[in-house]
Order: sequence, then C-alpha cells, then structure tokens
Amino acid sequence: MSKVKAAIYWCSSCGGCDESIVDLGERILAIREAVDFVFWPCAMDPKYSDVEAMADGEIVVSLINGSIRTSEQEYMAKLLRRKSQLVVAFGSCACFGGIPALANLTSKKGIFDRSYLTTPTTVNPEGIVPLEHSKTAEGYSMELPSFYETVYKLDDVIEVDYFLPGCSPNGDMVANAMGAILAGKLPPKGSMLLPDIALCQSCDRNSTKPESLTITEFKRLIHVQADPTQCFLNQGILCMGPATRDGCGFPCVKGNMPCTGCMGPVGSKDQGARMLSALGGIMEGETEEQIAKALDGIPDPAGTFYRYSMSSSFMGSHRKENKP
Ligand code: SF4
Ligand code: SF4
Repeated sequence: MSKVKAAIYWCSSCGGCDESIVDLGERILAIREAVDFVFWPCAMDPKYSDVEAMADGEIVVSLINGSIRTSEQEYMAKLLRRKSQLVVAFGSCACFGGIPALANLTSKKGIFDRSYLTTPTTVNPEGIVPLEHSKTAEGYSMELPSFYETVYKLDDVIEVDYFLPGCSPNGDMVANAMGAILAGKLPPKGSMLLPDIALCQSCDRNSTKPESLTITEFKRLIHVQADPTQCFLNQGILCMGPATRDGCGFPCVKGNMPCTGCMGPVGSKDQGARMLSALGGIMEGETEEQIAKALDGIPDPAGTFYRYSMSSSFMGSHRKENKP
C-alpha cells in the first residue's frame, strides 16, 4: 500500500509544535509506516523548489504550525495549500496567533526599535535595522521577506480544513488527529479536532467550584501555596479553564498550576472576553478602587486573557491595514 504524503511546516513559531511530533515517542514508528514525510524543514533538508515542483494536491495533508508574520510565511502557506488535499492549523499559533500575536499590542516600528536600537545590551550607534532591499559593500543586492505590521492566524491567509490547537498539542492529541486523518474519519471541514466544551467540564477540581463564587481579590501563585485539591478560582487564583477548550487532559491543573488557556477559546473566538464575562459574574466590588484592588493580582491583563489567542480576538484582529 502506498504511503500517505504529508508535510510539516513552521511559520512564526518556536519549534515546540515540531517537537510535539517527536513527543509521540514509539507511536511515531506506526505513523512512519503509513506516512511519507515529503517536506519537514525541522527534520529534513528539503528546498522550497521541491514543493514547487510537486503536482497540486499531491500532498495528502500538511500540518502547518506558527502564525503568519512575514511574506515568506504567507508564500509557503499558500504554496502548501495548493499542493495539499488537507491543511491542518497545527498548534495555537496557527489557530489563534499564539504567543507571537501578543506583538499585535505594539507595531512593527516598536518591535524593530526595541530589538535593534534600545535594549540595554544593544550597541548600534549607526541605527542599522534590517531592510527588505539592501546592497552589500560589494554591490550585491540582498532581499529579506517583508515583516508585516500584524501577526495573522493561518486561516486569515489560506483556507484551513481542520484546527488542532495546543501550545503545543500533546502526543495523544497528535496521535488521535493523525489516526483520524489516516482512517479518513474526520468531522466536517472547518472543525476543531478537539471537544467543543470548556476545560472546567472535565477538570477533576470542578466539583470543588461552588455554584455561587465571589472573588474580592486575585492572588498570584508566587505569593500563595495553592491547595492541590481545590478549584483555583475558589482560591482566588486566576484559572482560564472557563474560557478554554477542553482536550489537553489538564496537565497543568494536575501539576497544581492554573490553566493559562493554551487550547484557545471555546464558544467564542474571543477567549479574553469570555473569561472577563465569567469573572464579571463572580467578582465583587462596587467602587473603582475595589475593582482596581481586585485586578492588582493580574498585572498583565492582555497577556493573561489573550496569551494564545490575540489574532482571533476582537482586539488583536482589527489591525488589518497590511493584510496580505
Ligand atoms: S477554574 Fe480551573 S481549577 Fe477550577 S474547575 Fe476550571 S479548570 Fe479546574
Ligand atoms: S491546562 Fe490549560 S494551559 Fe495547561 S495544557 Fe491544558 S489548556 Fe493548556
């Protein structure tokens, strides 16, 4: 039986999603039996021309991780879309922008200034920053990809067939998704390959979350010893479980760490708005001072509520002026 041709590509990512394939452990051997990886820059040395030479639709499935920040990433996403029967947005950066999309809170200029000019360890008296077009002293022309003003999620630039969030997706999630793809047992196109419920519903501390909960202040984990048997919210510790998609097996909660929301939003594209709405019903405080005091325990609200999903939020998806 001929093997299924598959590709894995990284856009604006940390490499963790590629690592999650390796985390399959011995299960990767069974996948290797059925799959021929024809393009995987993290693990092989293919050239873009290898993909360009393929027939349209020749690749059965492409797993694309990372968000879209540069013209090169957009080009590769579109190329793989054309060459692939199925495209999976793999990991939370591809699905929702991920941590790189927190950069949507600043601008391209802000990033370049900070990275190349103003960090305390930078020595750059001539103020040299990367340019898309430049010439070397010898007269050679050099081109760099365009760096976009905005970080996009994958389905902002190409049609995506399935979404597998996670930062990164764990081995079980990857094995289940690959099994479904290889068996052709897939939900309708456009689906998440994870349950459509909030993490709280499967969390083993859910029974300790009272029906009626009131929070007057948020405590930071660095200041308290969390009770490993009680719902974090019940202890006044922010946990993103109510606004986060289920499917990870809640390893963080099992490790006595609150959920930070890496599976992305459930029930709404705006994870932060959903969490704020959940908190709105349980936070107590009449005056601005009382609310401000309660929020003191959340020193980075945007980074807390939108850590993985800025590109799919109302806030972080508005800046489309440079949309490819
Ligand atoms: S808020 Fe967190 S700890 Fe509480 S039930 Fe939900 S996921 Fe579990
Ligand atoms: S518990 Fe939350 S942060 Fe941890 S893996 Fe699951 S979704 Fe991600």
